Amino acid sequence: MRLKIVRKTSLLILLVLSYVLYYVPLTFTEPQHSICLGRLALIIVVDGAEISIVNGLEEFNLLKNYGIYFSNAYTVLPSATTPAHTALAYGTYPNVSGVVYTYAVDREEYHVTKEDIPKTVSWYDQIMSESIVEVARENGVLTALIVGKEKLKVMMGLNQVADVLKILPSELAYGVYDPNLPIEARYRQDEWIINETISVIRSWSELIHSGEYALVIVNLPALDWTGHACGPESEEYYLVARHAFQQVLSLVDIIKAEGLWNNTLMFVLADHGMSDTKPSKMLLPSKDKHHWGVLTGIRHYLIDTGGTAAFIYLKDKRDLEKAVKLILKSNLADAIYSISPINSVNGTLEDVGLNSPFAGDIFVSLKNGYQFSYPNEGAHGGVSTQKIFMFMLGGVISSKLTYSNEIVSIVDVAPTICEFLGLPIPESFKGKTLNYFFAPKVSLKVSISPSVIELTDSYAESTILVNGSVEVPSKLYIYVDEEEIKSSDISGEFSETVSIKVEEGEHTVLVKILSDGKVIGGATSKIFAVKIRYLPLPWNLIYASIVIGVLISLIPLVLLIINMKRKKL
Ligand SMILES: [Zn+2]
Repeated sequence: MRLKIVRKTSLLILLVLSYVLYYVPLTFTEPQHSICLGRLALIIVVDGAEISIVNGLEEFNLLKNYGIYFSNAYTVLPSATTPAHTALAYGTYPNVSGVVYTYAVDREEYHVTKEDIPKTVSWYDQIMSESIVEVARENGVLTALIVGKEKLKVMMGLNQVADVLKILPSELAYGVYDPNLPIEARYRQDEWIINETISVIRSWSELIHSGEYALVIVNLPALDWTGHACGPESEEYYLVARHAFQQVLSLVDIIKAEGLWNNTLMFVLADHGMSDTKPSKMLLPSKDKHHWGVLTGIRHYLIDTGGTAAFIYLKDKRDLEKAVKLILKSNLADAIYSISPINSVNGTLEDVGLNSPFAGDIFVSLKNGYQFSYPNEGAHGGVSTQKIFMFMLGGVISSKLTYSNEIVSIVDVAPTICEFLGLPIPESFKGKTLNYFFAPKVSLKVSISPSVIELTDSYAESTILVNGSVEVPSKLYIYVDEEEIKSSDISGEFSETVSIKVEEGEHTVLVKILSDGKVIGGATSKIFAVKIRYLPLPWNLIYASIVIGVLISLIPLVLLIINMKRKKL
C-alpha cells in the first residue's frame, strides 16, 4: 500500500519537474522610457536671508555667473520657515498643502469646542498634499534632505522617507538665540550642512553618471538664527551671510569637479527675509503669549508665526468684524487678511492662498519694528519679509540668460524641478514651471524592437529607433552599456536607426542630445536578452527520472536517521 503511494507521488513529481525543465516562462514587461534634461536637482535654502542686505555681498553677486537671478521672487504667507519650506517642497500654497505653521489650530473645531485653550495641531497633522520628495521617490529618484532644523522633515511629506536624512546635531545648534554666541560657532553650523551635502554628492556621483537621478534639498540655518539674535543690520548677520554664500560657491566648485554641472539644476533662495525689530516693541510681553490686548473682550487664541505676524483664531466667528475693527484701531497692522470678505482689510485668506483649515480667522502682519512674543533684534512672518532672492543655476540653463525681473514664487521651484528630472507634476502643484529658461527645446522618442529577446543562439539582433525634433542643430549620441554605438548631427525633425547585436543579459540604452556641449535631452531604456535552458524531449524526461531516482534512493537513509533518533529517545 505504502509503496503504491510512493510510486504515484514520484510519477506526479516527475511530470511537474519535466514541465518546469522544459519551459521557463518569461515575465519581463516592456521598459519605460524617460525623457529628461538633467540628473541632479538641488535646492539650497539660505534661511532668513534678507534680500536688501545680502544682495550687496560680493559672494552673492558671484552666483550670477552660474545662471539666472530673479529680482522679483516672493515667498508665501506667513513668511516663516515651516510654511515657506512646505510651499517649496509641495509646489503650492498653504490652502492646498494644509501646512500654515510649525503648529496651528483646527479653526472650525475651535469654534465649536467649549475650551478657551485649543488643542494644537503639529506640522505633520496639517499635511494635505504630496511633496516633491514623495514624487521623486515614487519614480526612482535618489532623495536627500540635509537640514538645520528638525521641523524641516515636513518636506518629506506624509511618508517621512528619504534615502538620506541629515539634521544638524543639537550640540551645534546650542545657544543660537544668544547674541553673544561666538561667530565661529555660527559658521560651524552651515559648514556642517555643506560638508554633509558634499559627501552625499560625492557618494552619488558615480550613480548619477551611470544614469541615476538625484534630488538634494539643503537648508543653511545659521543666518536665520543670527538675524533673530543680532538683527539683520548687525555685523554678525553680515559675516554669517558672507560665509553662507561662500559655502554655496564651494558647493558649485565641487559639483563641477565631479563633472556633474552640465546636468545640474540648482536653486539657491531664501525661505523668507528678516526685518529689524525692537525688543521694546514686543506686543505680548506677559506670560500669556496667546491673547492680544487690543482684542480685549473678544475670546480668541493667537499663534505668533515668526515674530512679525500671527494667526488669530476666534472662539465665536461672529466676532470677525469687531476684531478687525479693534486691530485697525490699534494702528499696529500693515496688512490684515480675513476668512470672509470685509471691506476694510487687504483681502481674504483665499486671496493669499492661506485658506487652510488650520489658518486662523484673521492673519495679521505687523508694522515695521513690532513683534509679538519674542524680544528679538530681528523677526519675520509678515508681508515685509515676503520678498526673497532666488537663483536658478546650472549647466542646463541657456548661457544667454542671466537676469529676470519676472514675478516668480517659491511655489514655482518644485514643478520646475519635476520638469527637469522628467517627473510627473501632481495636480496639487500650483506653481508654474520655469522651463523656458532651459537650453533649447527638444522632443525625443526611443523605440527598441525587440526589447525583450528569447535567445536561442549566443546573440540576437535588435534595432534602436530614435526620432523627434530639436530647436537648434545638435548632436545625437547612442550608447549601449556605456559604449558609443552611434553619433550623428541632427536638426529639425530627425530619425535615426541603428542595429545592434546583443548577448545574453540586461543592456542599457542611453540616448543623449547635446547642443553647445550641454545635454539638452536624453532618454534611457533597457534590452533584456534571456537564454532559455531546456533539454529537448525525451531527454528532459530521462534527466528528471535520474533526479527523482536519486531522491527516492535517499528515503531509506532518511528513515534510518529517524529510527536512530527514536532509539536514542
Ligand atoms: Zn526660516
